[in-house]
Amino acid sequence: MTDRAVRILVAAAEFVGLPSLWVVLRHEHVPNEEGHCLGCRPTEDVHRDWPCRTRQFADRAWSVHIHRGE
Ligand SMILES: [Zn+2]
Repeated sequence: MTDRAVRILVAAAEFVGLPSLWVVLRHEHVPNEEGHCLGCRPTEDVHRDWPCRTRQFADRAWSVHIHRGE
């Protein structure tokens, strides 16, 4: 996902009043002791390695959100 796409999604989330969405995603998508993401549901008993794509996106979106508030 490009930075431009991230910025558009961040703007869209703020437009509908959901900037806290990034906080929730970053809170849920955390690693367990084996380095797998707890926020992503396992697919066929295979957990995703952390940081997962959702977490990476949420971190980028969060940083964009923070910088917009300066
Ligand atoms: Zn995840």
